[in-house]
Amino acid sequence: MGREDEKLSAVLGARTAGSLGKLGLETVGDLLRHYPRRYGDPGTLTDMDRLALGEHVTVMARVARATVRQMRSRGGALLQAVVTDGRHELQLTFFAKRPGALRPHEDKLRPGRVGLFTGVVSAYRGQRQLTHPDYVLVGVDADDEESAMFEASRPIPIYPASASVPSWRIQRAVRTVLDPLTAQDVDDPVPVEVRARLGLPDRLDALRRIHVPADARDWQQARDRFRFEEAFVLQAALAQRRAAAAEQEATARPPRAPGEPSILVDFDAQLPFTLTEGQRSVGEDIARELAQPRPMQRLLQGEVGSGKTVVALRAMLQVVDAGGQAALLAPTEVLAAQHARTLRQLLGPLAEGGLLGGAANGTRVALLTGSLGAAARKEALLQAASGEAGIIVGTHALLGEHVQFADLGLVVVDEQHRFGVEQRDALRAKGRVAPHLLVMTATPIPRTVAMTVFGDLETSSLTEIPAGRSGITTHVVPAANPVWMDRTWARVREEVDAGHRAYVVCPRIHPDADVPTSGAAAASAEFDDVPDFLELTEGEATSDRPPLRAVLEVADMLRTLPQLDGIEVGVLHGQMAPADKDAVMARFASGEVQVLVSTTVIEVGVDVPEATVMVVYDADRFGLSQLHQLRGRVGRGSAPGLCLLVSTAEPGTPAAARVEALAETTDGFRLATLDLELRSEGDVLGAAQSGRSSSLRLLRVVKDADVIEQARREATAVVEADPELHHQPALRGAIEAQLDDEQEEFLERA
Ligand code: ADP
Ligand code: MG
Repeated sequence: MGREDEKLSAVLGARTAGSLGKLGLETVGDLLRHYPRRYGDPGTLTDMDRLALGEHVTVMARVARATVRQMRSRGGALLQAVVTDGRHELQLTFFAKRPGALRPHEDKLRPGRVGLFTGVVSAYRGQRQLTHPDYVLVGVDADDEESAMFEASRPIPIYPASASVPSWRIQRAVRTVLDPLTAQDVDDPVPVEVRARLGLPDRLDALRRIHVPADARDWQQARDRFRFEEAFVLQAALAQRRAAAAEQEATARPPRAPGEPSILVDFDAQLPFTLTEGQRSVGEDIARELAQPRPMQRLLQGEVGSGKTVVALRAMLQVVDAGGQAALLAPTEVLAAQHARTLRQLLGPLAEGGLLGGAANGTRVALLTGSLGAAARKEALLQAASGEAGIIVGTHALLGEHVQFADLGLVVVDEQHRFGVEQRDALRAKGRVAPHLLVMTATPIPRTVAMTVFGDLETSSLTEIPAGRSGITTHVVPAANPVWMDRTWARVREEVDAGHRAYVVCPRIHPDADVPTSGAAAASAEFDDVPDFLELTEGEATSDRPPLRAVLEVADMLRTLPQLDGIEVGVLHGQMAPADKDAVMARFASGEVQVLVSTTVIEVGVDVPEATVMVVYDADRFGLSQLHQLRGRVGRGSAPGLCLLVSTAEPGTPAAARVEALAETTDGFRLATLDLELRSEGDVLGAAQSGRSSSLRLLRVVKDADVIEQARREATAVVEADPELHHQPALRGAIEAQLDDEQEEFLERA
């Protein structure tokens, strides 16, 4: 029985446990999984005469004196010690809030004691010193000089720490917990046969190597093993999900027999274009799966404009033909409203079932969003419950709310990244029989990410763009160049005069709000859900750059711009009431508004074919994939699209490289890969799907493709041999713990 569930308070005492709790570490297992961020090089023993500033050194020396004093100027306490090699002196400095915190050092650093001191050399008032050095004292931490040398030559683990819990205290806590553990105390989720086959150390061995390495090889091997473990547990969980889904029942929704009346056949007959080869073959796959008594679980990837909506609609119509209903879920109300419009348009009279002039075997499209008036809402609910509406469009709330369906047979989710594993599970658990599921995404997902995040789904892709698109040209416009900016607005004028429309995208809503500098601020209402945005600006100098442009400010500016005289400028952002958003989108679609200034709320799916120009302010501060999504909003009709990226990035910076890459290629897959390379893993997973980052600490989804594939093979074999994992209690436990974490995060977010 493992000890990793034991509370730290029971093992380390309340005080230490309390401070570790601030880092989110509650149990022995939490602490053991708090891996070092990196390892200090113990450096080489250095002649004190030749200590160079900035160098990481280890010196063997004798303590000459040590004194603690209160600092008057700054508050807090200071311990200063002097060590000597007999000829030269070196100062050691430790700071703390209270003198008491320095006592343990003072107790150890007694004059005459010999030790090894490790740190980076700095200078203070002409005197060389080490600040907060790591050290080992002979006769205290080590028996003799030789063992002191050994202790001090190990890589020094450096932990993710905080001001109140420094790395060395974490290290000590880890040792207290880890040192007495035996093999029985540690459950290993990786079965012994798998470890033997792949030559991986067992879990306890690996914990020792990662926390107390004797050399670099130790922690590297341990790190590889834990990467494998993370991938393995995840893949085993996904394999179980797939197995469970395969067992689940769904209602088969076969297509109508040839010759029978069919809304799908009528729809195909009235389509103004021919389906692309990809649309046809993906459509066939979907049609076949819908006809099975098992729930379809399919992810449909396709570049913006590749025609996913038609594929989804045809699937919905097959379900309607079979007597069922389909729900289409969009991430926002604006998009839901637009989807409803698009579907009604595509269906024409087929969407007027039961109405005078409607087609005989037509159906109805109901829109159900929070912003509906009471009467409209009641009507939509009634249509869903009675089955009068074969297609119900809404946001994800549709599934949570007490919406009754007559016979829900298919759920289509547009834009996957806000529809995570938890929601998919909730959906499958909803009825006695699960509905079929089709998830659509326009963000190309590298294979291993798909395997990690969507490992429970089958994938199909639309790779061609329907003919007749004129494509899009992208230019970078330096914000500081007035001639280029003039030209930008002149181009907008020309397009509007030609009967087209323009988007102007800004990162912020209000001009006067402070520019947030931390990721946490991304959640604030000031930004319209732009996760990419701040992650990328962090670490890049933001303080000395011009403030971000804001929707309201830019709209005012454009309304007084002589070049845009007589043009109607509208505004769209996430703080507007849903009804106002819909209204302005409708006016933009109809041409009453010709220039729409907005935040990234238009990122996904908005479809106004007359829109031909997009101007993006502060383009250098957005993520690549996001910009690519954004520009997909223009050039959707027969006229060519133009995207102008207004940038304040200095030439030669990564930000400049990012916007230039975008101007050079429209290959979404290349851009997505580039984007991933520019991000950290947490962001990749966070952006792709919530709730995964907690279980992945070391695994890198893009770089560790081999590990993931290997883990998938091994995990699938283990689950196939023993679907309930009766013989793998440790693996079962690890999967449950992971699900609990996800559940928790999900609840916290909700
Ligand atoms: P996506 O959702 O993949 O971004 P849409 O389904 O919105 O793409 O399609 C974009 C536009 O292309 C729509 O106006 C749609 O009617 C049109 N379209 C779809 N399929 C075809 C096709 N095979 N030929 C021509 N136009 C198409
Ligand atoms: Mg779409």
